[in-house]
Amino acid sequence: MSLKLSRSVDQTSEGGAATGFPFALEGISQEADWFARQLTDWYNPTRRDLPWRETTDPYAVLVAEIMLQQTVWSVVVEYYRRWVARFPTLESLHQADESELLRYWEGLGYYRRARSLKVLAAVVMDQCGGKIPDDVEELKQLPGVGDYTAAAVMALAFDRPEPAIDANIRRILERYLGLSNWSNPSAADAGGFLTKALSKTSPRLLTLALMELGQTVCLPRSPRCAQCPLQKECKAAVSKQFDDAQMRIRRPVHRRDSRVLLIVRGSLILLHSPGDDRFPGLWLLPLVEGDSGLDPNSIGLERMASSRLKPVSHHYTVNVVRLLPEVWQADMTFEPPMGMVWNSFSEMERLLMPSAHRSIVRQLLSVQSDVLR
Ligand code: SF4
Repeated sequence: MSLKLSRSVDQTSEGGAATGFPFALEGISQEADWFARQLTDWYNPTRRDLPWRETTDPYAVLVAEIMLQQTVWSVVVEYYRRWVARFPTLESLHQADESELLRYWEGLGYYRRARSLKVLAAVVMDQCGGKIPDDVEELKQLPGVGDYTAAAVMALAFDRPEPAIDANIRRILERYLGLSNWSNPSAADAGGFLTKALSKTSPRLLTLALMELGQTVCLPRSPRCAQCPLQKECKAAVSKQFDDAQMRIRRPVHRRDSRVLLIVRGSLILLHSPGDDRFPGLWLLPLVEGDSGLDPNSIGLERMASSRLKPVSHHYTVNVVRLLPEVWQADMTFEPPMGMVWNSFSEMERLLMPSAHRSIVRQLLSVQSDVLR
């Protein structure tokens, strides 16, 4: 189909409200119909098989969306499979022990998400009769559920025309509609356009297609327009004007080194992270710097020269922290600082730890036994 779009009302001599929307109102419905059909026809033959796409169970959709909030899909796949195998229903999650939930979340990072899911399960069991609400406003009241997640659950689980606009889908809309920035009027118009498109087809299918396009074709810095079903009518592709912020700005990655202490005396000192910390309730190796940091030279510890432990990098959002392990020997008089306790080596695998810390502890356990004396 070749669709001839008329210019926006703010670009004609006919007057009218300047909305910034690139199509005249009478063309929007037709355009939305074309947009929806192009994407849904393209999606099925090309899509990747991701486990959360095989279900419309609102609980499973919600789990996947919360896992995907700050973690890339390729990492989430295995965590999602294990989670829904162990906690297949909201009720099973509600009954589970929090430490077991955190164990299943270990390595996924941003542990508050796991805790929020547990609180959400309690709220839904107590206040919603055990059923995840099929109302976007009620969904937004649940712990850990924001505008995007609520809309995604409405579209993917309940097949309702709620526009779920994350960074990927926003980028597609900006480019397709030729919006130079996501200012308030243009964001509202783009949301309106997507809502219209969702009303033309299955909202679930169109949302899945947009997610797939954003992850595999309309990439931030190198859009693959030749493979895109929208290319013919896409304002950015037609005009070759990819002037959005994502093309221009490379997000700087912040790298830093952080010394972590393995204080040994036949067992190992670990810090129990408080509930409001980034690692709520997990066990950590003490750091040299920071609020709870220790200065090993000033507290009577002796550096062990035989340590051959390798640094481990810990990635989160645009930060990379390289943990540099140091083994220090404590004498019999040494008292662990506040918040820290001795833990026996045989207990290590049972304790919840961020994956980078666990990796260092496992290195320690695998070295010569004389290091551990
Ligand atoms: S044609 Fe290119 S810029 Fe436009 S939506 Fe497709 S991939 Fe993105």
